[in-house]
Amino acid sequence: MTRILPAVFALAALLSVSSAAEAKLRVVTSLQDLAAIAQSIGGDRVDTFALAKGYQDSHFVDAKPSFILQLSRADLLIVAGLELEAGYLAPMLDQSRNDKIHAGNRGYLDASAGCEILQRPTTQVTRAMGDVHPFGNPHYWIDPANGRVIARSIAARLSQLDVAGSAVYQQNLAAFEQRLAQKEAEWTAKMAPYAGTRIVTFHNSWPNFAKRFKLNVVGHVEPKPGIPPTPSHTLEIINLIKDQKVPVILVEPYFDKKTPNFIATKTGAEVVTFYPSVGGTPAIKDYFALFDTNVDAFVAAMKRAR
Ligand SMILES: [Zn+2]
Repeated sequence: MTRILPAVFALAALLSVSSAAEAKLRVVTSLQDLAAIAQSIGGDRVDTFALAKGYQDSHFVDAKPSFILQLSRADLLIVAGLELEAGYLAPMLDQSRNDKIHAGNRGYLDASAGCEILQRPTTQVTRAMGDVHPFGNPHYWIDPANGRVIARSIAARLSQLDVAGSAVYQQNLAAFEQRLAQKEAEWTAKMAPYAGTRIVTFHNSWPNFAKRFKLNVVGHVEPKPGIPPTPSHTLEIINLIKDQKVPVILVEPYFDKKTPNFIATKTGAEVVTFYPSVGGTPAIKDYFALFDTNVDAFVAAMKRAR
C-alpha cells in the first residue's frame, strides 16, 4: 500500500496535468499579430498557432498538411478578414472538416469587426487586376487603437467559448489595455516631431499606422497592391520622391529590396525595413514590440536624414 500510494498520486498528478493541457482552448489565427493578442488575453488557458508567420507576406501562405491538422483541432479561428486570407484559407478550411470554425459559427472570429478600416471602396468592387485589397485596406491591425478593439473582441469571444475563464480574460484584457495606453503615449511622443512627413512604402500596408502617427503616404513602389514594380512606375516614384522631398522608403521585410535600393540611389531617400507583423524579426515577440521596433527605426532614419 505504502508503495502503491505514491505511484497513484504520481499518476493522478500526471493525469491532471495532461487534462489541464487538453482543456486549453486551441486558437488558430491567420496572423502572428492576432495570435500574440490572443495569447495576451488567453494566458495559459489557450494555445495559439499562426498560419502566416510574421516574416512572410500575409497575403500569400503555402498550405501545409500541418496547418490543416491545426485547423481540424481548433476551437477558435481568428482571421483578419477583408480578403487578406482569400488566397489560401478556404481550401484548408474545407479540408479541416471542422464546422465550428466556419464563418457564422462561434468558433470563427473576424478581427476586423469594429476596427477602423481605411480605403473602403466607394464604387462597385471590380477586382481591378491584381488588387489584393478589394474591400478596404486589410492591414488595419498596425494601429494601436485597432489593436485595442481586436483585444476586446478576442476577450469577449474567449469568454463565450470558455465561461469558466471569463474572469481571467477580463483581467488580462484590462492589463493589456493599460499597457497599450501607456505605450501609445510613448509612441505618439516619439513620432510627434515628424508629423506631416511624406513617405513612400513598398506595399500599401501602412495607411492606419500613417494616420495614427500623422505621416503622409504619397506613393507605393508597387503600382497596385500585389503587383510587382514596373520600370515606368518606378520612374514616377523617383520623380515623386524628388519633388516632394520624401526622406524614407518603408519596405516590408519579405520584399526584394532591388527596386527600393535603386530608387534610393537616384533620390537620396533611405530604405528602411518596416515590420507589418509580430515575428517579422525575432525581437518582435509581441504586439507592443511591433510598434517599438517600427517607431524606433523611423525616428533613427529621420535623425539621419536631417
Ligand atoms: Zn496588402
